[in-house]
Amino acid sequence: MKALVYGGPGQKSWQDVPDPRIVNPTDAIVRIDTTTICGTDLHILKGDVPAVQPGRILGHEGVGTITDVGASVGNLTVGDRVIISCIKSCGHCANCRTGLYSHCLGDEGQSGIGWIFGHLIDGTQAEYVRVPYADNSLHRLPEGVSDEQAVMLSDILPTGFEIGVQYGRVKPGDTVAVIGAGPVGLAAIATAGLYGAAAIIAIDLDENRLEQARTFGATETVISGSGWKEQVLALTDGQGVDVAIEAVGIPQTFEMATRIVRPGGNVANVGVHGKPVELHLEELWIQNINISTGLVNANTTPMLLKLVAQQKLPAEKFATHRFTLDNILDAYDTFSRASETNALKVVIT
Ligand code: NAD
Ligand code: ZN
Repeated sequence: MKALVYGGPGQKSWQDVPDPRIVNPTDAIVRIDTTTICGTDLHILKGDVPAVQPGRILGHEGVGTITDVGASVGNLTVGDRVIISCIKSCGHCANCRTGLYSHCLGDEGQSGIGWIFGHLIDGTQAEYVRVPYADNSLHRLPEGVSDEQAVMLSDILPTGFEIGVQYGRVKPGDTVAVIGAGPVGLAAIATAGLYGAAAIIAIDLDENRLEQARTFGATETVISGSGWKEQVLALTDGQGVDVAIEAVGIPQTFEMATRIVRPGGNVANVGVHGKPVELHLEELWIQNINISTGLVNANTTPMLLKLVAQQKLPAEKFATHRFTLDNILDAYDTFSRASETNALKVVIT
């Protein structure tokens, strides 16, 4: 088959590789019908994720059709259309039982980042992928949900919801600020709306992203430049927001999140910070501010899928550009120049 193979920092190629095969009885093989590119893939390509070694097939988002199942796969059969969760998880180890799928202990005693596709196991930017623990890692798609909608449920919608909105403990009537209106921040904006947030303030450097934020449910937009903080405070009668969600991943925006939260409010860090972040703990302590962070578990994908099917979540709005798998290198080019191309998610079929 053809696959996008990581060749070390700055290098990738669309090349012939052996077809994946069932290794364990809990595996399934899925033919990729639709995949997409995540900011994390760009981090890997820069060499920021040393755990990913040359030779790895990239990608952790995908929708496809099952072509083979192992002997102990119970819930799925050949021909089923499925969403591939970004993280494979057994569903029954000590960590999975608490919902911490991102720390699945599996049968091999391995945990954490390794279970994300395209990291220590081959990913979804290929014609086929092997999915371990298929019963828990795949979700059958109902009629009426398109591939373009479903592929947003592999990673970005659960990430914005679980690590932004749920960890941030958004409640009805809250004022929520989301810093960074990329796909993940927009997912947080869309899903904060599910909880009846009274106001959702999107903050970004990029005007186009702020325009997008309005279509996902932001009630206010603030350009991340001089006077940004005064604008946010003015929107909250000087009180600060109830919840600030950081969806960029740089020290500056984490700091911003901590500066606009009301006493007793919540800062939910979603961004992946390659660098240490300074924590002025005493100032947070005196304000009784809660801080949360974490890796997505994608344990809410089935619930979010129901909302997408009922048209309560506009998953289709993330797709801005379309390519075929053979042109995946062009898709990378468009995605990596998002500030010029206005790309949100590039959909590859
Ligand atoms: P993205 O790069 O597409 O979007 C980031 C947005 O932040 C852009 O719109 C950019 O204009 C904006 N931005 C940059 N600097 C800013 C500043 N100083 N002030 C305000 N806005 C600024 O990224 P994405 O794909 O939406 O992902 C967001 C973050 O979430 C990344 O760090 C990504 O690695 C992380 N992530 C985390 C998890 C998790 O499990 N926690 C999962 C997936 C992605
Ligand atoms: Zn597990």
